[in-house]
Amino acid sequence: MASPLRVLVTGAAGQIGYSLVLQIAKGDVFGKETPIVLVLLDIPPMAAVLEGVQFELTDCALANLTGVEAVTNEKDAFTNIDYAFLVGAMPRKEGMERKDLLAANVRIFKSQGAALAEFAKPTTKVIVVGNPANTNAFICAKYAAGKIPARNFSAMTRLDHNRASAQVAIKSGVTVGNVKNVIIWGNHSSTQFPDVSHAKVNKNGSEVDAVSAVGDSAWLQSGFISVRGVTVQKRGAVIIERRKLSSAMSAAKAACDHIHDWYKGTPAGSFVSMAVPSDGSYGIPEGLIFSFPVTISNGEWKIVQGLELNDFAKEKIAVTTKELLEERDEALAACGE
Ligand code: NDP
Repeated sequence: MASPLRVLVTGAAGQIGYSLVLQIAKGDVFGKETPIVLVLLDIPPMAAVLEGVQFELTDCALANLTGVEAVTNEKDAFTNIDYAFLVGAMPRKEGMERKDLLAANVRIFKSQGAALAEFAKPTTKVIVVGNPANTNAFICAKYAAGKIPARNFSAMTRLDHNRASAQVAIKSGVTVGNVKNVIIWGNHSSTQFPDVSHAKVNKNGSEVDAVSAVGDSAWLQSGFISVRGVTVQKRGAVIIERRKLSSAMSAAKAACDHIHDWYKGTPAGSFVSMAVPSDGSYGIPEGLIFSFPVTISNGEWKIVQGLELNDFAKEKIAVTTKELLEERDEALAACGE
């Protein structure tokens, strides 16, 4: 048997964590044949809850889950891990300013970046889910630099990507497996730009542009992006309104899709959305953790080049870029840089 992958989930006692750990443990991410040791991290007050999750995972009797470790300190959490799902973050509390939330979270991700540098493997790959995800990933990569390359750090925009694909499928009258190449540009926030102008739909056996399959360009430029939160940008708020809890099952599934594709690769002719350090593509400042369309092969992502952007897209991308630059500067200030 190959030696098991050590996979860390932080915030493992939380909502997303609860859905996420089972999906990883039963092989949805690395395949059913890959042995896994799951390392669950949460803060000390959550130790008992974490132990409950550990017991349940054991009771799932999963053939390839060779160990479950429940820990409350960074050294035990980050030592020799192969993959890190960084979900744990300070929750938004009533009356809290965005700036305060950002500062609190940035401190967590600065510390986890340093812990990655000290204890993890130089090949460790990281997805940040905890918000503000792009900026947290930026800070984490900064403090892990020298040991782990920046390109091993990413933030999740896959839930937005999945939401967009599902909406296009519904509007086109196909199942979601027939939709590809939707793009989420920018920040995982309400400034993100969901873009279907390069997406394709397989309708009755032939591939057509999503724009013509949907057949409603007014909806694509407004309703699809945000009207009453029914669609992509504000879907999270709608889920909270209906469920009285934030989205967790779909967020966990999206995190699994993100790492699955990073591990296994994307099919020929398909791309997915992933927030990764910009290399200057499409004029995005270098180093910003920005959601781009990427293809993946042999565990390496590549930003899709040469896509044409119309004025509407350029305007939307400028707005989300500006927000990310502001977040970056606030985060660096909170780190005393
Ligand atoms: P959730 O599991 O619901 O959410 C965790 C994080 O994911 C939040 O930052 C949340 O952001 C974010 N997130 C990103 N995308 C989504 C999405 N689409 N839908 C919902 N959330 C999304 O939070 P819980 O409060 O249930 O659990 C968090 C756990 O993290 C707790 O157990 C807490 O103790 C732990 N924690 C662990 C730390 C650590 O391990 N060092 C540090 C701090 C907390 P948003 O708030 O914007 O919804």
